[in-house]
Formats: sequence, structure tokens, C-alpha cells
Amino acid sequence: MPVLFISHTDCEKHVMLDHHPESPARLRAIEAAVQARDWDGSLALMEACEIDDRCFGQVHPADYVASLSALEPGEGIVRVDADTSLNRHSLRAARLAAGAAIQGVDAVMDGSARRAFCAVRPPGHHAESAIPMGFCLFNNIALAAERALARGAERVAIFDFDVHHGNGTVEIFLERPEVMVCSSFQYPFYPGRFDEVHEDHIVLTPLAAGTAGAAFRAAIERDWLPAIERHSPDLILVSAGFDAHREDPLGGLLLEDDDYRWVSQLLVDAAEQQCNGRLVSALEGGYHLEALARSTVAHLDALVA
Ligand SMILES: [Zn+2]
Repeated sequence: MPVLFISHTDCEKHVMLDHHPESPARLRAIEAAVQARDWDGSLALMEACEIDDRCFGQVHPADYVASLSALEPGEGIVRVDADTSLNRHSLRAARLAAGAAIQGVDAVMDGSARRAFCAVRPPGHHAESAIPMGFCLFNNIALAAERALARGAERVAIFDFDVHHGNGTVEIFLERPEVMVCSSFQYPFYPGRFDEVHEDHIVLTPLAAGTAGAAFRAAIERDWLPAIERHSPDLILVSAGFDAHREDPLGGLLLEDDDYRWVSQLLVDAAEQQCNGRLVSALEGGYHLEALARSTVAHLDALVA
């Protein structure tokens, strides 16, 4: 069974301010690196479809979805927070990004794919139930978890290794213990929301600026391995942000390509042990184009293994 690579060229039409780090060039860099590689049939491309409104479920209220749609400009851009804005293609891109995550869950739960990676933008993990922020409009990985639950999964686990805390995902599932959220992140750092909560199903791994691979790996083994055992998920979801890379211009952590290979393999191994290998991953951050492309290939290497 193949691993799906789900994307859509319309995700590249969402453009924010000039020189914004969350740019269409990110997806183009990933596509070029993936195409340059011979995957020997292990990777299957799938075009993303827009999310069906019914799939917003308990993640985003209908009036939030409607209010974002109402903001979309006919031309130019409209800001929704200090560093997030919409152009006339943004809502379609966001609906495709969320739809990709749902397609990934459907394929993996149907058994038509082993695993899936969604190469999409805008990213999602900062979007709270009713607040767009931090380059994010819809919380793609939270919508994936919602889909899995709607399809009969009893427990889902989300692992987020983006350099920024996944505040939106934590906020959305704060009172829903069937979804465990494990997030490693630079601390203190943006966005400074929901990064000090104390719940059994919220596993926070704050890392000081300057943390490198060895300390990252030790912290992940300490926090995530027992959490996986405890939660025993039916599906593993990954918020795959690559901005903790030492070359990234936004983050202050010092991970390298091999650290992404390592953490991805750890999650694949956990999926094999806990849930017949079922794992769906969605792109979050990563703003150094070459480091992003190399790290994504390292991530995919683990997913296809
Ligand atoms: Zn980030």
C-alpha cells in the first residue's frame, strides 16, 4: 500500500504580504525535492479536495467559518491578525488544506493507504476554534482528528514538533480527553497561549532556545513514549512543522535533518505498535526553503519505510 502525498496547486495562490515567510515558495520547494527523488512506487500523489462544511464539526463553529468567508477580499489583502492575511484565494487554499487532512484520514482508515502526508498551506495548528492567528485559518490537524472520531476512532493522538506551540490544537481539545495532544516547542516563545495547561491528555514539552538534537530527542523519548502507551490511540496524527531546524529564520532551536528523520521514525514505529501503522501528517511551519525541503524528504523517508 502506498503512502499518500496530498496537495493542490491552488494552495500556492494564497499569498499574504510581500516577503512573508509563509509563502507559496515553501510548497514549490517541497514539490521539487519530492519530484527529484525516486520513491520506487512507495509514494502516491493525490489532489486535495475542499473540506465539506459538515466536517467542521465541533472544531470550528459555523459562524467562524462564515465570518472568515465574509472577510475574503475581491482584490488586495485583508489582515486578520498582525501576521496573517487573506487574499481572494486564501479561503479556497484553507479549505483545500483542511480537506487534504480529512482525505488522508479517510484513506488511512479505509485501508486504501498506509499513511499520508499533506503538503498544504495555510498551516493550521495556531488556529483556535474561533480565532485565526499565526498564519493559520483552519486547524487542519484538529479537523483530521474530528474526522477520525466521527468515523469511529475512540482515541486519537496528535504529535506536534513545530518550533511554535500548537496552541490552537490544545485549545480545541482541552476538554476532550479522547484526543491527546503532545507538543514540543521553544519556550518562552510565540504565541504564549495554552502553553502552561495541566491536563493528563495534554503533554507539553517546552524547550529552551538553543536546544539541539540530542536534548530534543531525550525530551521526546521522556515525554512522548509513555504518553503513546498510556493513550493507546487508534490513529496517530502529526503536525509536521520544520521550523525548529537550525537554519530556520524564525525559530531558535537547533534541529537538523536527521532529527526530523528520527522523530518521524519514532512516530511511525509507535503507529506500527499501536494502530496498524495508521498515521496522517500535515505540514505546519518551516521557513528556510532548502532546510524545509530536506526535512520534509527525511519525514517522508520514515513514512514510506
Ligand atoms: Zn511554527
